[in-house]
Amino acid sequence: MPTAFVTGITGQTGSYLADILLARGYRVVGLVRGGDETRQALEERTPGLELLEGDLGDGERLADLVARVAPDAVFNLGGLSSVAASWERPLDTALITAVPPAVLLDAALGVQRREDRRVSFVQASSAEIFGSPSESPQNEETPVRPVNPYGAAKAYGHHLVASYRSMGLAASSCILYNHESPRRPETFVTRKITRTVARISLGLETELVLGSLDARRDWGWAPDYAAAMQLVAEAEPDDYVIATGEAHSVEDFVAAAFAAAGVVDWRGYVKQDAAFVRPKEATEFVGDSSRLRARTGWAPTRAFEQIVAAMVENDLAIESTS
Ligand code: GDP
Repeated sequence: MPTAFVTGITGQTGSYLADILLARGYRVVGLVRGGDETRQALEERTPGLELLEGDLGDGERLADLVARVAPDAVFNLGGLSSVAASWERPLDTALITAVPPAVLLDAALGVQRREDRRVSFVQASSAEIFGSPSESPQNEETPVRPVNPYGAAKAYGHHLVASYRSMGLAASSCILYNHESPRRPETFVTRKITRTVARISLGLETELVLGSLDARRDWGWAPDYAAAMQLVAEAEPDDYVIATGEAHSVEDFVAAAFAAAGVVDWRGYVKQDAAFVRPKEATEFVGDSSRLRARTGWAPTRAFEQIVAAMVENDLAIESTS
């Protein structure tokens, strides 16, 4: 039975990845912080997981845990995951998002050498490494030019993965585009929209206050992206864009959410507030995942409207019972 070591397992994509790895016969060891209140929910939702306490910021313990677990695959999904938060907490972004890949890659290479067997490493990289890309769609050759602390931290991990790959580690970077689900926290615009739209449709709220409605993102279904990461662990080590190839604006998302909730005349509910507008950001992200599709047969399973509808339905269920 292969063993996977997963950081960020309590997060949206990590929790889906745990389900997928267990279903594929992996022993799954996840890293959780002491006092992480999402731990219990994860244990209830996903029996069979082994959880170890540790902090991504504690490099010594992290390296020790990987050496002891001696995994066949390391998946690094941990870290501060929001662009907005990275402007407020640049130091944490560096310490928790940028630095841990260095520790984990070194530890994974150590296991590979000691045990003389393939250890794969899969880094959750991000479209944010491209900054404000001049080409669309972006692919694995698009220049890495981040424009925010989150993107810069992810760029460091991304380059390190390539360095360790050149040292013989089966290390891959998944360049993930935005991926959403009912497990997305409300710090992300998608969940903020679906939660508020559900509340408006039930008469519990009267306003949806947003920043830029014009920003365009390539929004995928998080379980599809977790599945892609598992495929990448077994594929030829490389950089892989994980994206749908379709961009939609924040306004499109809002319209689809109101449609899913059955609210026809919705424009009056939407307000804009400069507080939610980002200092500097890409106006459009859209990814070309041809490499991943050709090498693994991966394809997204849900269309944009289906993703939005699934999130709205989940929030309607929560809001009508609370
Ligand atoms: P990100 O792409 O990883 O930063 O994911 P987000 O879901 O946080 O943001 C997606 C896009 O929505 C960005 O272009 C934001 O500027 C835009 N946006 C517009 N209004 C809001 C808002 O109220 N909250 C958030 N989080 N993003 C917003």
